[in-house]
Amino acid sequence: MRHYDVVVVGAGGAGLRTAIECARDPSVRVAVVSKVYPTRSHTGAAQGGLNAALCNESPQDSPEVHAFDTIKGSDFLADQDAVYFMCKHAPDVVHELDRWGVPFSRMEDGRIAQRPFGGASFPRTVYSADRTGHVLLHTLFEQALSKENIDFFNEFFLLDLLHNGQRVKGVVLYDIKNGEVVNLTTKAVVLATGGFARIYWQRSTNAVGNTGDGAAVAMLNGLPLKDMEFIQFHPTGLAKTGILLSEACRGEGGYLINKLGERFMQRYAPEKMELAPRDMVSRAIEHEIREGRGFGEGTSAYVLLDLRHLGEEKIKERLPQVRQLAIDFEGVDPVYDPVPIRPSAHYCMGGIHIENHMTSSTPMEGLYAVGECACVSVHGANRLGGNSLIELLVFGKFCGISAREYVKQVDYLELTPAEERKGIEFIENLMKREGKEKLADIRRRMGEITWEKVGIFRDEDSLKSAYEELSELIQRWEDVPVVDKSKVFNTNLVEVIELRNMLHLARAVAYCAMHRKESRGGHYREDYPERDDENFLKHSILVQEGERLKLEYIDVRITHHQPAERKY
Ligand SMILES: Cc1cc2nc3c(=O)[nH]c(=O)nc-3n(C[C@H](O)[C@H](O)[C@H](O)COP(=O)(O)OP(=O)(O)OC[C@H]3O[C@@H](n4cnc5c(N)ncnc54)[C@H](O)[C@@H]3O)c2cc1C
Repeated sequence: MRHYDVVVVGAGGAGLRTAIECARDPSVRVAVVSKVYPTRSHTGAAQGGLNAALCNESPQDSPEVHAFDTIKGSDFLADQDAVYFMCKHAPDVVHELDRWGVPFSRMEDGRIAQRPFGGASFPRTVYSADRTGHVLLHTLFEQALSKENIDFFNEFFLLDLLHNGQRVKGVVLYDIKNGEVVNLTTKAVVLATGGFARIYWQRSTNAVGNTGDGAAVAMLNGLPLKDMEFIQFHPTGLAKTGILLSEACRGEGGYLINKLGERFMQRYAPEKMELAPRDMVSRAIEHEIREGRGFGEGTSAYVLLDLRHLGEEKIKERLPQVRQLAIDFEGVDPVYDPVPIRPSAHYCMGGIHIENHMTSSTPMEGLYAVGECACVSVHGANRLGGNSLIELLVFGKFCGISAREYVKQVDYLELTPAEERKGIEFIENLMKREGKEKLADIRRRMGEITWEKVGIFRDEDSLKSAYEELSELIQRWEDVPVVDKSKVFNTNLVEVIELRNMLHLARAVAYCAMHRKESRGGHYREDYPERDDENFLKHSILVQEGERLKLEYIDVRITHHQPAERKY
């Protein structure tokens, strides 16, 4: 048994930023746990950049305008005090990264460059070509490695949380390398396990590991999840694979074109055009396809992203990764030809309910959540591009400060013998299974249900049937055996557990979506096409009690801007 003051689960941007802050006090011992090697976390795939009102490109910008854009983008569902908090601290955490060595792209005069992004009033997105997440993650990892009081548990998988109902006691981990179960006792746990857009298995921009383990473990331990119905579909996934082409494509001036050669965004957002927020652009693309103005048919339908007019030099300098992805995965070089694209499941606005945005604390004492697995909420019903990376850094920093101070005031709680055996028994039972169900079949069906019935367009019938079918799949999961019986790198076992986690989250999304009878941000109901502030200007709070799901609503904190119609 090992003891740590703080265990951070997740080594993406959120986990690493939090761990660095906790470790500023050399007396605080920190463990960072990650199921993949840290630099393979999904943060490394972020392309476009992060938002902070540095005002380098446009002196008229300010944290207040950033906050207003974010609140409007959220379709007024974000908690406004939390948004102001994030936007106020954004410039500081970006300057901090600059000092730590992130190689940001620069203006002629040497200041950090900023590019336009969807839903933003001014060019505000700080970037490093189109590899921003990669350089950010590596820099954070270097900083974390330099701290002697951080230990890494790489390729360890979070199985469960240990707690006494009120306070957290530890975590149960599975060592993927050798099949051992390891318990860590701790005073504080920070969940930073990322998003779960892989519940849309066949069409997602996310890494295959984005299965929402932290959010699922929290839910299965009775913790509330918030606003689960809000999933973001990114407009420009590659047509064949769903792999992302960054919003930077449109930020740098790319056009969206239908079969008739029209820049069809004129019909939907005449002012902002391609730079309208993602929910609007995604619906516009799907609408064009439905109306027969796309190319191809059914699941292989698409529209075009045209970058040719930007010229070879700009494409190579600003969008090198985008170009390579289009060549490798679609067989098209954007310098010479427009690229087939279609929306792809990208981001989860919902997640583990955070009670206090200044500390990132959950309703359980000693348990915190940061990053995409958490719902603060700063993104409300729709996140603006570039606002996730900044969220990781700002809330990671302040979560780190509060966890660091908290652990100095409390002692460890002892584990009971039953708690010590919990993980071992779970794995033994899983390995003993003899059912006939196939992992791949259930996962594929889950992806079909989510895409077809809980996708960009939704209605009562589709959501109800999704909820019922996903409940059935949860039952069938009990009969999925672990076919590989070995102990070394048993990825089959890991995938079986990930599937359970995704199924529970997918059902939670369908359930919350079924009960939100309005359209707002990423959640579009064809049977309730209007936003309904009177009944639904509220956060959904979902709790799983045994087999039952219990849904409640809490107020949105409106401190600065009254809800208004959202036009671009
Ligand atoms: C392709 C792509 C491009 C994007 N581009 C941008 C962008 O330009 N700007 C922007 O603001 N946002 C962007 N986003 C969104 C943003 O990158 C993510 O929301 C953010 O990086 C999530 O960070 P995180 O630290 O919360 O999680 P992640 O970076 O996903 O890290 C999760 C960590 O948790 C660990 N973990 C998960 N489950 C377990 C488990 N069971 N046991 C142990 N460890 C576990 C993983 O190993 C990993 O270390 C993009 C997203 C994608 C998919």
